[in-house]
Amino acid sequence: MMIQRRPTREVKIGNVYIGKNHPIAIQSMTNTDTRDIEKTVRQIHRLERAGCEIIRVAVVNRDAALCLSAIKKRIHIPLVADIHFDYKLAIEAVNQGVDKLRINPGNIEDKSKVRQIVQCAKDAGISIRVGVNSGSLSKSIYHKYGGVCAEALVESVMKEVNFLESLNFKDMILAVKSSNVMMSLAAYEQLSALVDYPFHIGITEAGTKFAGTIKSSVAIGSMLLNGIGDTLRVSLTTDPIEEVRVAKQILSSLDIRRFGARLISCPTCGRCEVDLESMANSVQDRLEDIKKPITVAVMGCAVNGPGEAKEADIGIASGKGAATIFKHGNAICRVDEKDAVNVLMKEIDKM
Ligand code: SF4
Repeated sequence: MMIQRRPTREVKIGNVYIGKNHPIAIQSMTNTDTRDIEKTVRQIHRLERAGCEIIRVAVVNRDAALCLSAIKKRIHIPLVADIHFDYKLAIEAVNQGVDKLRINPGNIEDKSKVRQIVQCAKDAGISIRVGVNSGSLSKSIYHKYGGVCAEALVESVMKEVNFLESLNFKDMILAVKSSNVMMSLAAYEQLSALVDYPFHIGITEAGTKFAGTIKSSVAIGSMLLNGIGDTLRVSLTTDPIEEVRVAKQILSSLDIRRFGARLISCPTCGRCEVDLESMANSVQDRLEDIKKPITVAVMGCAVNGPGEAKEADIGIASGKGAATIFKHGNAICRVDEKDAVNVLMKEIDKM
């Protein structure tokens, strides 16, 4: 099955291009106090190592805005300033050299202020994400529709798009996020028929690590299958590193992008005589640093394991106290169970 990606224009965020045929980029947002430069830079470096390609920071006040330049100088991925309410913070963020602004039409409604933000972004040659959010729709649109719905999200973003276009500004990325999966799908679908700007996709306030991962995966996966989405953020109430790991897993599961080695492991059954969960987790951790595009299997028995994992390039089939290492379904050696993961990793190194 081939995914037909929605055709979009290309928009630049620092040295990363979004839309058109460019890879669907992974973003995250720091949860440190942006005024704490050391802590924020440390977290961004961890996110970079995990595979984050664009990072957003909250600009809560002028002190936070004044830290942006120092943060940007020390990181290697584009920096996005997240602005709510105060247009002066957006202008200061641009002056500090950020690569993109995120503004929310629901909380900067005064057009003369938006005009000033747009003029600054234009002068600096940076892009703007118009990020509508179900939790912060403007009062007028909320009342017009009697609440939040996909149509309200789309009207809100389109109002801002039309205004920015009237200022001859087209370096836009759009988002119409809701915490409701069906509403988000409908909103992005409706919006895709109206514009050719790239979309930033995700579910807002998705939830905790477990529930939020599933909700985000269902929503983002559905959008991607429909060809919608040019950059994504998985929003989770946990360490943002998890957001990046989940985002990579979503893209990898749909074969949209590959990020090195991929693990498959069996669910175990009554034939399994080892602690396969620990073994699979240990292999998963050690595969984080393996950039080779290989598939690695961890299977619970030697009877069915190699056969069930034929698609794997290499794997372990465990037995009682011993394990078989196999390549493309064929056994290459038999080792003690305690040595299995180390031997597997050595064999992967040779590949
Ligand atoms: Fe059961 Fe073996 Fe299949 Fe795992 S590989 S599910 S242990 S039969």
